[in-house]
Amino acid sequence: MNWYEKCQFSFNSYPIIPQPKHVSRPESYAELKPSQMISIARGLGGSYGDAALNAQGEVILTNRLDRFLEFDAHNGILSVESGVSLEKILELIVKQGWFLPVMPGTAEVSLGGCIATDVHGKNHWYAGSLGRHVISLQLITDTGARINCSPKVLPELFWATVGGMGLTGIIGAVTLQLKRIETAYMKVKHQAAYNLKQILEELSQEDDEFEYSVAWLDVLNKPYSQGVIMKAKHANLLELPISKQEHPFSLTKYTTLKWPPYLLSFSLLHPLIIRLFNKVYNSFLAKKEDAYLQAYSNYFFPLDRIKNWNFLYGKKGFIQYQCVIPAQFAYFVIKDILKTLKQHKHPIYLAVLKRFGQENLAPLSFPLPGFTLALDIPISGDKLFSCLDSLDEIVIQSGGRVYLAKDARLKPKAFRDMYKRYPEWLTVKQYWDPHNKFSSSLSRRLNIGS
Ligand SMILES: Cc1cc2nc3c(=O)[nH]c(=O)nc-3n(C[C@H](O)[C@H](O)[C@H](O)COP(=O)(O)OP(=O)(O)OC[C@H]3O[C@@H](n4cnc5c(N)ncnc54)[C@H](O)[C@@H]3O)c2cc1C
Repeated sequence: MNWYEKCQFSFNSYPIIPQPKHVSRPESYAELKPSQMISIARGLGGSYGDAALNAQGEVILTNRLDRFLEFDAHNGILSVESGVSLEKILELIVKQGWFLPVMPGTAEVSLGGCIATDVHGKNHWYAGSLGRHVISLQLITDTGARINCSPKVLPELFWATVGGMGLTGIIGAVTLQLKRIETAYMKVKHQAAYNLKQILEELSQEDDEFEYSVAWLDVLNKPYSQGVIMKAKHANLLELPISKQEHPFSLTKYTTLKWPPYLLSFSLLHPLIIRLFNKVYNSFLAKKEDAYLQAYSNYFFPLDRIKNWNFLYGKKGFIQYQCVIPAQFAYFVIKDILKTLKQHKHPIYLAVLKRFGQENLAPLSFPLPGFTLALDIPISGDKLFSCLDSLDEIVIQSGGRVYLAKDARLKPKAFRDMYKRYPEWLTVKQYWDPHNKFSSSLSRRLNIGS
């Protein structure tokens, strides 16, 4: 499948839309300019849903804008074009003792896409989301002007662009503060948990040593909601075995499998297979009681080793329902969400919980203090969508919200009830993009920007 065909869908294969009116793929930063049509930037299409789709206009592919502009290896300050993937950045910086301060669950995404969605990692409670670490960025606005902004220069434009879903313009270049590491390894420890309460309590523990934490839940086997909490930190030099201390940044290149080779017309997954998988996976994870060392790539991106795993869901695709719930309501709301999906017989193939800390200044940024739950659900028919609408209501009542980077079906009113600072964002958007030139299938579905 070529880059043009890929513009019909995103990571979860839902929705699949007609070819955009125009697809451009600038070869260099100098060539990057918006056309006369309504347009939206697309990085590596790692969002779930229609944020990077544009059936009625132009899609601007940024994957050729992948030059490294400057690297201050002494202070860990990196400037790159926005189409560079996190994988390429890590290849350059890790061997020089630096790391990205925030890491999503895949490295096959562009830095521009990660800023436009203000991604979070397993260390949000500690490090916040990516926007906090961006020193400055260059934005190409509707007139083609290149505007530099930062938390100090044009801060409203900067924060409207962080998490702004590509709707303020095209992020062209970025300068980022990296974090120091002593090795390319993670020290990981697991803890089995037998119910949701225990998982939330464990995730809430302030752990000075372990910066990263995530809980994997098995919600298909009894007792429902048992799981494993995986905590991790960057390993220090002295935590490596002596044999590895001489070359603490060298890792064996891992092998990847590309399977299935293309998007299948049917799903290869079934609740019974996932139930069995969960049982085996749970006992495998829970057995690892002692802390152990793992290459950073294996800890952060286990699924990147199987390219196309998302195609296992077939052409109907899947929804990732990711919401955040304020801490004080998390237990009851998450229980309610899981119960509702079970009652309506919508199987959950993957369930993950993380803790969030303070939010940042970006009006459309997703995180707020509490817990984020991400659920992969195969698309079975329209009933799933009405069930998810009812979950939105529960989330809104709690003061929570759904993540736009994972959304394919939210309604305009629910969006406004969740993102209360939308009017503030809209003022900035209307100033910099008065004709609403930057528009996507997501923004039109949610009536954002006009
Ligand atoms: C397996 C997997 C795990 C993930 N885990 C996490 C996670 O842990 N945390 C998390 O926060 N997210 C996570 N994500 C979501 C992903 O990180 C975001 O959706 C990210 O935006 C994808 O980057 P991309 O380059 O593929 O963007 P795309 O999907 O191409 O675009 C996403 C949005 O960014 C905009 N955009 C892209 N490039 C630019 C640009 N240059 N200028 C302006 N706007 C731009 C697009 O218009 C669109 O609105 C995960 C995704 C996958 C597939």
